[in-house]
Amino acid sequence: LLQLACAMHPGPPPLNSESETVEMKRMLCLLAVVFLLSPAAVLAQPATMIEYDVSFPERESHYIEVRMRIPAPASDSTDLMMPTWTPGSYLIREYARQVDRISAVAADQSQATIVKVNKNRWQIQSAQGKDIWVTYRLYCHEMSVRSNWVDRDMAILSGAATFLTIADQESRIHQVRFHLPESWTRTVTSLKAVDGSPHTYRAENFDELVDSPILCGDPVVQDFTLGGADHVLASLGDSSLWDTAKAAADVQKIVAQQQTFWGSVPYSRYCFLNVISESGGGLEHDNSTLVMTSRWNFRDKEKYEDWLSLISHEFFHTWNVRRLRPAELTRYQYETETNTRGLWIAEGITSYYEDLMLIRAGLIDQPAYLKRLSKNIEKLQTNPGRNVQSLAESSFDTWTKFYRPDENSLNTRTSYYVKGCVVAFLLDAKIRELTNDARSLDDVMRLLYQRHSGAQGYSNADFTRITSEVAGSDLTGWLAHAVESTEELNYEQALNWFGLQFQTPPKATPSGGTSEKPADKGAESTESKDADSTPQPTKAAIWLGIQVAESGSSVTVTGVADGSPAMAAGVNVDDELLAFDGYRANSRTWKEQLRQLGVGKQVQLLISRRGRIQTLEITLAADPSLNWLLKPVAKPADAQKTRIGKWLGAAPATK
Ligand SMILES: [Zn+2]
Repeated sequence: LLQLACAMHPGPPPLNSESETVEMKRMLCLLAVVFLLSPAAVLAQPATMIEYDVSFPERESHYIEVRMRIPAPASDSTDLMMPTWTPGSYLIREYARQVDRISAVAADQSQATIVKVNKNRWQIQSAQGKDIWVTYRLYCHEMSVRSNWVDRDMAILSGAATFLTIADQESRIHQVRFHLPESWTRTVTSLKAVDGSPHTYRAENFDELVDSPILCGDPVVQDFTLGGADHVLASLGDSSLWDTAKAAADVQKIVAQQQTFWGSVPYSRYCFLNVISESGGGLEHDNSTLVMTSRWNFRDKEKYEDWLSLISHEFFHTWNVRRLRPAELTRYQYETETNTRGLWIAEGITSYYEDLMLIRAGLIDQPAYLKRLSKNIEKLQTNPGRNVQSLAESSFDTWTKFYRPDENSLNTRTSYYVKGCVVAFLLDAKIRELTNDARSLDDVMRLLYQRHSGAQGYSNADFTRITSEVAGSDLTGWLAHAVESTEELNYEQALNWFGLQFQTPPKATPSGGTSEKPADKGAESTESKDADSTPQPTKAAIWLGIQVAESGSSVTVTGVADGSPAMAAGVNVDDELLAFDGYRANSRTWKEQLRQLGVGKQVQLLISRRGRIQTLEITLAADPSLNWLLKPVAKPADAQKTRIGKWLGAAPATK
């Protein structure tokens, strides 16, 4: 045992004298443990443990250095693997492309060679029974929640993008130690800290290492305890415009709401890793989330609500998709795509609850909530791709379609986030009506968690079975229509149940044209007080059905929607818009020019297509996105008031 312990750290010398002291303390600690624990327990763990030392000698050039210790391999050939993607972000990202200067040495200086054998694997040849040190450099210059960043001030490291491991031996313990530059004060991660060794963390297996992003630098840290668990909000980057104490108080409300919702707290410590970096996005993990935001977002009410919504979304994943997963994702295959038809449940239902949790926690009011829900309905109902791809297909093909958008995506793809959220809303209303408000989608999620969390996972059929059980009624047909088909959704039941309607948009009265009433495929709209009854032709938003890129003064088409005026006129992707009815258009003026022309007007559109000037005839239409704003009916029945209160919680009407 003593020999074993002493043999644990041969190889290259420690990085500096501080590390050396730490190393000695660690050895003494280990020896103490060796004599206290049973021999079997000691042999089972450290002997196979893979260790990493991460240092930052070239951080201003965005490199980190990783030194990896592989304990005495039993064979003279060892295969190393690096993941090609990271769970939660379903795209092959080829992390190994950022690895360079890789080398291997045996602890006793005997010969060791390392050769790359495919895009993400390396093979080491060395004498068996001798520890091997592998060193590599990693370029870290992608500011996102599923990659790496390092600069003078900080590092943001994601496990999948950082660590090689021994292929097919992911169950080993992995331990990582960070050697911080002097000006950096802290490391923050959900990994367990190793006592007595600063900035050293241990993962029970490779999954946990991959699942635990790490912040290094000088973050502002707020702590709170709730539900018997510790929580950390660490804000890294320029937090001078953020009130991190207020942010932590609001995050605490979200945590309380969700712990109550699920009725369980499946973690003992959770880290909200908030990077204030002018970037965006979030990624969920078992015991943490990494989110990115702008320094300005705290000062803008709606953008701050977006951040709270992001926090709520990622935290909801602590249950839904981390511990309760589609069956295909219960064991991660790090080197290949894994297709599942269940991402609409994992992501879409989470998208529905992200804002419900905010209003139930009193963080947003009812108009704000309805506006956020409306945005999802509008996105779905104005996207021609909803007629082509079902929710289940969207989930299945995310690797090659949703995560790889192109100019025709709007015509062929459905977002499982967006449609999943809308279907969750309609399903929730359906269950509430079927059970006379005794049960809801909340009960479905809790029962699904109770029955299918952990190793077995769930299928769409399991979800249908549990939903029907909760609703006391067979919802197979309803769910098949919503999830498997591309037929239009029906909003009428949900709107009637809650006493909601879609607001009628302002009437556009064009000069010299005919008013075009956009088709409303949803529930009946009634005239509302919000609709401006004064004819104001210049205020009507005009719809061509194009997506554009504005660069300098030029406006270039990047997408053309099926069934749109632009499609009918023959507008192509990459056409540059030059003039409407002979008046020069540019990126500052073109929208206002269209507004002045008015709905129904036929216009001469001058374009440049691959350098050739052409004229197209286009008829201006009213913006269909204005049809999907939810608001309460003018005089809701008492029953409807009760139902909406039960659904949204006791949030104040105004804030
Ligand atoms: Zn998500």
